[in-house]
Amino acid sequence: MAIKLKSAGKSKSAIKKTLKVKPYKKSIFKQNDLSQLSEDIISNISVGIYIVQNEKFVYVSPLFQKLSGYSYADLAGTNPVDYIHPDDREIVRKKAIKSLKGKSSDAYEYRFTRKNGEVMLVLEMVTSITYRGKRAALGSFIDITEHRQMEEALRQSEERYQTIIEEMEEWYFETDLAGNITFFNDVFANVLGYSQKELTGLNFRSFIKKEESDSVYRLFNQVFKTGESTKNFPHEFISTDGTVTSAEFSIFPKRDKEGKVYGFRGIGHDITERKHAEEKIKYLATHDSLTGLPNRLMFSQLLNHAIQSAKRYTRQFAVLFIDLDRFKIINDTLGHEAGDQLLQEIAMRLKQALRAVDVVARLGGDEFVIFIEGVSDSSQAATVSHNILTTIIKPITIMGQERHITASIGISVFPKDAEDEQSLMKNADMAMYLAKEKGKNNYQFYSEDIQSKSIERLSIETNLRFALERNELSLHYQAKVDFKTNVITGVEALLRWQNPSLGSVTPTQFIPVAEESGLIIPIGRWILRTACAQNAAWQQQGLPAVCMAVNLSLRQLTDDNLIDDIRTALNDSGMAPNLLELEITESMVMHNPTRMIAVLAKIKNLGVRLAIDDFGTGYSSLAQIKHFHVDTLKVDRSFIRNIPKDSEDKAITEAIIALGKPLSFIVVAEGVETVDQLDFLREHSCDEMQGHYFSKPIAPEQFADLLREHVPSPGK
Ligand code: C2E
Ligand code: MG
Ligand code: MG
Repeated sequence: MAIKLKSAGKSKSAIKKTLKVKPYKKSIFKQNDLSQLSEDIISNISVGIYIVQNEKFVYVSPLFQKLSGYSYADLAGTNPVDYIHPDDREIVRKKAIKSLKGKSSDAYEYRFTRKNGEVMLVLEMVTSITYRGKRAALGSFIDITEHRQMEEALRQSEERYQTIIEEMEEWYFETDLAGNITFFNDVFANVLGYSQKELTGLNFRSFIKKEESDSVYRLFNQVFKTGESTKNFPHEFISTDGTVTSAEFSIFPKRDKEGKVYGFRGIGHDITERKHAEEKIKYLATHDSLTGLPNRLMFSQLLNHAIQSAKRYTRQFAVLFIDLDRFKIINDTLGHEAGDQLLQEIAMRLKQALRAVDVVARLGGDEFVIFIEGVSDSSQAATVSHNILTTIIKPITIMGQERHITASIGISVFPKDAEDEQSLMKNADMAMYLAKEKGKNNYQFYSEDIQSKSIERLSIETNLRFALERNELSLHYQAKVDFKTNVITGVEALLRWQNPSLGSVTPTQFIPVAEESGLIIPIGRWILRTACAQNAAWQQQGLPAVCMAVNLSLRQLTDDNLIDDIRTALNDSGMAPNLLELEITESMVMHNPTRMIAVLAKIKNLGVRLAIDDFGTGYSSLAQIKHFHVDTLKVDRSFIRNIPKDSEDKAITEAIIALGKPLSFIVVAEGVETVDQLDFLREHSCDEMQGHYFSKPIAPEQFADLLREHVPSPGK
């Protein structure tokens, strides 16, 4: 370690005090005749002593010999200057000259080279004495090598800490026991916006929130009592301009020599950004990014919390499961952007329809869930559900078009229907499915018999997955008959499913499941192939060619492979395209007319015919239908059913037939069961009929027989 000889320090005066060598006025030493007392003193004193006469050592004390490593014999007669570091010789010389003038020198430092070559740093005083009758210089010194080294180490360490405190980005401060600031670094002062002068002596409470001052006080007190530091304590600091900075700081005890805590040291840093980021992450983790509503995770937390408090205070509450009706159609036909817009609008409406205390969350897709506290009886939940249905059905403009959306709601009530989160959600979900089954746009309460129905739905889906490969599906065929000729002009293929465990499942039960699960795509492909192949087979049996009608679902219409599938079915069977008629419903085309026109045009280009099924139940007008190049209109069974009793149904049916004619549609009446219906329709020039009156849907072999019986008579 480099040692600066001339470095002035507080310690110098301290060293001088230890030295306390008084100038000797008289000669008291003789090398060989020192009195016993003097010898004792000299041997025990911690000061090295030597006498120089005529620039030569004439006496060196035992300590000198020990410290320097030289014996008296080594030193006797040698010049002291030889042992001094060349750079220090001048100062020593000056002091010696001064002492020779009769004055004692003040203390000075120099480097002495020990016998082993090491440098010893000495603090020395020299005084003039008379030795053996002649003037001599008496030097007395102490070895301060180690002391200086320690002092230097201390200085370096102080400098090091000062650098750290001033250069670090952390806040550093010290306080007394009362929390008054006694020391701080610039970072701390700058963050708080105080000048050095203002901050000194200011109490810690001055820059923390009032309501937090107690907890801060407790923190300091704990450090004081336990003597142990507290790490990473989060707190908010208020700057002079009112800015709030979130910080995390650690408090350490400041101890005196005895180890008693007499103040505190604090180190802290700004965590505002980190806190913002954490808050954002927390928000993102608990909210739905599209609608800003709480997400499933947060809803689950809130619901669990509600369950606990409802249990404690014996309260009831309701969980409402909301699913938009036909949302998939909008999403599939108008695109995801429109779907997103719709969900955002619905989220806003739901929030507006509820009290601030109620919670509405989006679980994903078009599923929302609401939690209503303080429901004393089910009528309250019913009122809320009614309001929700009313607000949802209000016209909504998406992609410039006005639409009406509906929803189905399922309700479960705590504790009546379930007492835990999972069961409450599951039961509300089941009730929602019941609402869907009951025609959508309504709400249903959970009840135990829903459960069995719901299990049924689930097993439908599970079994349907294997229906194709296990050959459980088949097609039945229902004839379409010309009113005028009574000849079978066409046939509609209707899907049948016979499952070993579920028995015979009707299309109205399983087709919606097939659509939702996407299974309708492979199943639909199979239907097309089978129907076309069947038609070709009948012809090969010598039966007259009839038009084969196949129902399409929306999911198929939006499937990119549809056209290929149709083409393959036609090619593989060799059936003429104009013998195939695809049935679609009004609602399927009305959701995205532009896109549908394109798909339907491609179908027409193949030479395939198009029919609008269940006509009259949707909102389309005949003028709109014209754009789809439709060949056939099938009047929905619901109008036919009450003919001739219901005059309104009669009027509607009559109007459809009358308006369809000039547009060259073939008008088919569905579900004709009675002779009265038949007469009415014939009278009003309906083209064709389909229904149990003539034939139910039947197996292919039976249909072949039926067809044989109704071969057009020659010439017709
Ligand atoms: P849809 O296309 O309107 O078919 C007519 C439905 O009315 C058939 O019911 C048929 O059995 C029934 N029906 C015919 N005449 C009468 C009658 O006189 N009285 C009564 N009460 N009913 C009659 P089904 O076979 O149960 O099919 C119901 C619906 O399921 C169909 O309505 C159609 O929308 C759908 N569906 C059936 N098969 C298929 C299929 O292969 N693919 C697709 N995508 N949907 C299908
Ligand atoms: Mg049909
Ligand atoms: Mg129909």
